[in-house]
Amino acid sequence: MNLHYDVIIIGGGLAGLSLTRQLLLANNNLKIAVLEFRKHPVAEAIHKVGESLVEIGAHYFNNRLQLGEHLKTDQLKKAGLRFFFTHQNNEDISQRIEFGATFFPKTPSFQLDRGRFENYLAQLITEQGAHFIDEAKVLAIDLNQNSHTVSYSHQGEKQMLFSRWVIDASGRSGKLKRQLELTKAVEHDINTAWFRIKGKLDLDTWSSQADWLKVAPRDFRYLSTNHLMGKGYWTWLIPLASNCTSIGIVADAALHPFNEINHLPNALEWLKKYEPQLATKLATDQYEIIDFHSLKHYSHDCEQVFSAQRWALTGEAGVFLDPFYSPGSDFIALSNEFISDLIINDLAGFDIKLKAAYYNKQYLELFQNFLLVYQNQYLLMGYPGTMIHKVIWDYAVYWGIISLLYFNKKITDINFMQTFSSAMHKLVVLNKKVQTNFHNYINDPHAFPVKHFTDTMSYQFLQDWNTNLMQSYDDSALFQLLNNNLAYLQLIAEQYYQGKSLIPSELELETL
Ligand SMILES: Cc1cc2nc3c(=O)[nH]c(=O)nc-3n(C[C@H](O)[C@H](O)[C@H](O)COP(=O)(O)OP(=O)(O)OC[C@H]3O[C@@H](n4cnc5c(N)ncnc54)[C@H](O)[C@@H]3O)c2cc1C
Repeated sequence: MNLHYDVIIIGGGLAGLSLTRQLLLANNNLKIAVLEFRKHPVAEAIHKVGESLVEIGAHYFNNRLQLGEHLKTDQLKKAGLRFFFTHQNNEDISQRIEFGATFFPKTPSFQLDRGRFENYLAQLITEQGAHFIDEAKVLAIDLNQNSHTVSYSHQGEKQMLFSRWVIDASGRSGKLKRQLELTKAVEHDINTAWFRIKGKLDLDTWSSQADWLKVAPRDFRYLSTNHLMGKGYWTWLIPLASNCTSIGIVADAALHPFNEINHLPNALEWLKKYEPQLATKLATDQYEIIDFHSLKHYSHDCEQVFSAQRWALTGEAGVFLDPFYSPGSDFIALSNEFISDLIINDLAGFDIKLKAAYYNKQYLELFQNFLLVYQNQYLLMGYPGTMIHKVIWDYAVYWGIISLLYFNKKITDINFMQTFSSAMHKLVVLNKKVQTNFHNYINDPHAFPVKHFTDTMSYQFLQDWNTNLMQSYDDSALFQLLNNNLAYLQLIAEQYYQGKSLIPSELELETL
């Protein structure tokens, strides 16, 4: 057996498997070993969370990793994010204020059965020449000047491998992260619990009210990532291609203590109290619950993720924000983009010292800036008008700036990013102000009025910004577009500072 590799990846989960695929697409002569603790193939449906993709993650898997065929045939196409806000006791979904799309946005996203996806990826990278070793538990990593050593146990025996690069993709175990004492706490105290049921949980059967049924095409609600929202919490409903449904509770510890959701009986009691229609459906339709998990205080940061000493952390081994808006796969896409660039350049003989430091700073700053989207914002989930306008804002920043940079491969283009850095700084300041501003209006009954149903795509600029992601731009056109979008965001912010609802036609679109 070969003992020397270019890259050893610790952990064959979503981040490790996709990085392997990305590296092999860049250079199929690379020698890569992936050491994965679990036995493969893994179970479908119940394997892991991280089942809903948004545009960056979806683009990464669909386009960069060329997995479109699998996504289209073996996973589900996603009908965007959909939100239902609390109305009285939450016993009748048709009475709840709803926010979501009525047609598929141009830029696709997907619902992932994680077990199915990881089985597929493990097989694919093996066919591409990677050495995927399951039931391999990494015990220690010895980082050295010339070649790193990774020891692991496999079928009761201790083994050793050597490589130029070591990547920690071991998820929450953070094997290398712990060894190097890089863990950094985050002040964002949110807990979660989740389980899967067998069968389809079809929201369209929750009400027979004709007007409500007419709002979205048949199955559109089913294919969305549905959020049942209340003060300090959201509950996800995600359909899986394996004909199961994933259900999760995500709640601010200050309003919903962990001990109310941390075991299945408590979690079901919690649902009875806050989401009784869902609880009743689960009980009366006799859905079979096939697993249960809970996790306390899931957010974590990291002191350093990329090093010119030829190690890096990706996925949850590095940082984790929050599952709201599903940024987990986006962060995998971003970190893998940086890591892949570093490895390919290093192996080609280039000095990566400056790049590694720059990418590390960029990635960790992005994490801090994204954190503002979540920190102290769970309270807003109980206020439909405010929350809908926050979601519009977050979509706008995400599609209009961050995704546009990613889709056009600018994240690793240091010259471009430096040219755009002062605009980016303006955005960071603006975003901070807008996120804080929402709190000024939660007790104002006249602020941010909304209709019973709001179609996400009725905001023409959101539709355009989503569609723009499908085009590629040269540097000057992209620079212009990003600045236009930033100017538009400033106009939106002006409306928001006054607690005004967003009516796009009233904004000075033509001046941009
Ligand atoms: C509640 C919740 C909901 C989420 N929802 C979403 C979502 O909707 N969309 C989204 O994009 N993201 C979501 N995420 C984030 C998503 O789950 C993560 O981004 C993703 O699973 C991280 O992948 P990973 O490969 O880093 O870690 P994992 O998928 O956990 O993979 C790590 C692998 O390392 C292996 N391993 C661990 N230790 C060792 C060792 N010592 N030796 C060998 N192998 C080892 C493990 O067996 C595992 O397979 C969610 C997260 C949470 C907490």
